[in-house]
Amino acid sequence: LKKELMQLKNVETITLDGRKVELAGNIGTPQNAENVMHNGGEGVGLFRTEFLYMDNDNLPTEEQQFNAYKEALEKMEGRPVVIRTLDIGGDKKLPYLPIGDEMNPFLGYRAIRLCLDRKDIFKTQLRALFRASVYGNMKIMFPMISSLQELREAKNIVEEVKAELRNEGIPYSDDVQIGIMIEIPSAAVISDILAKEVDFFSIGTNDLIQYTIAADRMNEKISYLYDPFHPAVLRLIKMVIDNAHKEGKWVGMCGEMAGDPKAIPVLLGLGLDEFSMSASSILRARKLIRNLKFEDAKRVADEVLNLGTGEEIRKYVEENIK
Ligand code: PEP
Ligand code: MG
Repeated sequence: LKKELMQLKNVETITLDGRKVELAGNIGTPQNAENVMHNGGEGVGLFRTEFLYMDNDNLPTEEQQFNAYKEALEKMEGRPVVIRTLDIGGDKKLPYLPIGDEMNPFLGYRAIRLCLDRKDIFKTQLRALFRASVYGNMKIMFPMISSLQELREAKNIVEEVKAELRNEGIPYSDDVQIGIMIEIPSAAVISDILAKEVDFFSIGTNDLIQYTIAADRMNEKISYLYDPFHPAVLRLIKMVIDNAHKEGKWVGMCGEMAGDPKAIPVLLGLGLDEFSMSASSILRARKLIRNLKFEDAKRVADEVLNLGTGEEIRKYVEENIK
């Protein structure tokens, strides 16, 4: 089986009837990019940059960050690499950056909220990113966007950073796409509006599911509620994909759901353009998609949107996708 999968390393991810999608890897360090390449990844759909901040006693310097981003871009040899700006807070705390006790850390001071408040931290990261951008095909993504104001503010800071680099004569790429994670229901609901001001979306189902169902993704007592196939979750995903496509923008997914063989046919049918998952899941996903018809997947996706429970949806998918 391993050998059979390895034969799919350098082939396209395309359905029997010709719908092409991109299979990318999620990485947590630049070294992980090697694993994505080894497993036939067509890009990196999520580079979680937290490691730079977690494995450190201080905020990482611009130079440290620049080297890490450059390394990931070079390892991917020109393939797209989506780098997510700092997503600290929630369950991820930094000893050297006390943010105080919070009643609900997952609803608290984290990710883009912290970055817009601590512009110094944000600008250091953006400078490092843009300096690295000339070494590959880099895209930037903001986590935890809940409103249009946050997106605009973040983009303004991007423009400030670019102007500074220009003034200093430091080269950067002008083709860096700017996208956002859709992982908060408010963002999904206004995705028609957000789509006009981004280059792409990436759906973060790990958080989107917990916020949509109000079910803590870490709490085992209520894990039965945390269901990627909850009809509300699927309807939000559909809304996000349709709204992006209406504006001619592409949509990826970088939550766990993107690598789930049961979910892939539905996501494909809903029109998802890019699937980002752990490197070890990529070849299996490619095999699955190459054996599907897009037309069948679309029919199944249409049908399950009318079903009332996750259980019914799973059953329908199992019975109708061979
Ligand atoms: C997500 O929320 O789906 C996601 C990819 O981000 P993280 O798991 O890092 O919160
Ligand atoms: Mg998230």
